[in-house]
Amino acid sequence: MGDATIPLIDLRQAALKAVVPEVVSPANGLLADRLGRPLRDLRISVTDRCNFRCSYCMPKEVFDSQYKFLPQSSLLSFEEITRTARLFAAHGVQKLRLTGGEPLLRKHLEVLIGMLAELRTPEGHPLDLTLTTNASLLTRKAQALKDAGLQRITVSLDALDDSIFRRMNDVDFPVADVLAGIEAAAAVGLWPIKVNMVVKQGVNDHEIVPMARFFREHFGSAVVLRFIEYMDVGTTNGWAMDHVVASAEVRRRIHEVYTLEPLNPTADGETAERWRYTDGRGEVGFISSVTQAFCQDCNRARLSTEGRLYLCLFASRGFDLRELLRGQASDEQIAAAIGLIWGQREDRYSQLRGQNAAPDQPGGRKVEMHYIGG
Ligand code: SAM
Ligand code: SF4
Ligand code: SF4
Repeated sequence: MGDATIPLIDLRQAALKAVVPEVVSPANGLLADRLGRPLRDLRISVTDRCNFRCSYCMPKEVFDSQYKFLPQSSLLSFEEITRTARLFAAHGVQKLRLTGGEPLLRKHLEVLIGMLAELRTPEGHPLDLTLTTNASLLTRKAQALKDAGLQRITVSLDALDDSIFRRMNDVDFPVADVLAGIEAAAAVGLWPIKVNMVVKQGVNDHEIVPMARFFREHFGSAVVLRFIEYMDVGTTNGWAMDHVVASAEVRRRIHEVYTLEPLNPTADGETAERWRYTDGRGEVGFISSVTQAFCQDCNRARLSTEGRLYLCLFASRGFDLRELLRGQASDEQIAAAIGLIWGQREDRYSQLRGQNAAPDQPGGRKVEMHYIGG
């Protein structure tokens, strides 16, 4: 895409130890971090591999044939993921999002979904179970995912123009196949479907209105299109502030053509600001991670493919839960270790970045997005 990519400094070895506290008190769903934020949302990366090479996430020059992805033995098994998710549910997690890399590349993913669909909150409710995908395999897998218990799905699509999209995914993948995936997901009832578009100045920003037009005309309220500000996650994508198109500008461009009005948020800690078309043809969302930090409500934790717990998308290091999962620790002990980690959390990178006070990560490094998921 013309922007300089930056060589990768591999942070995957740099784990923090997850410590079991001396006094193990049971999880009671009331956990809060140092800034009073509860734990409600767990994003689980099921693979660090992907069949796309989006320049803003896994630039081809870095993630080439020499790049060493995690070996199979490093990955958490479905049993380990489910056990961990159960312990998070005891601490108050209500929503699980499977991500990656490309989650549909993980073999037999529907088996994991079936296992996660069995989990319950302490009040006995099923967890909200969803998945983010590039949709390349969705036409084939939508029915099995639905049958296994997946409730909703988010699809990433950055342009309707085929040549722009092929260039952005950098593996020449056509728009038509992503749209077929969205149709397949809608047909099996995985809706409302969210479609994520990362907007990059001068690359796909002229696709904003065509995307809005297409989804409101073809899908109405069955699809919610969300515009994401291009973020400085990881260290390889050569991010610069002038690549970002602020949500306010995206909204202005849509509003010029289709009038919008704001909607109330549906959940605490929701990342997207919701707006609807005044003519009733559905809604759009704006995720303003750069221009309007939402750290004060951030109730999300991230579990990497190899079982590291990350407390912020911009963290440099995660806590090694796999060591506990594969050792002698009991469920109660691991839950207590998770409680201790969350209780000490004070991450708020975007907020500090907005005040030009973002903390220095060791060597300016941050973990890569495909490794901990979005
Ligand atoms: N491969 C799947 C996909 O693309 O939907 C799931 C993983 S991907 C890392 C999750 C989300 O992160 C996608 O919607 C992607 O567009 C978004 N993303 C990746 N890098 C980003 C960046 N630098 N800024 C903003 N969003 C980004
Ligand atoms: Fe793959 Fe998703 Fe990253 Fe694109 S954004 S490279 S599809 S993980
Ligand atoms: Fe949460 Fe970190 Fe993003 Fe702030 S920067 S919203 S703390 S993940």
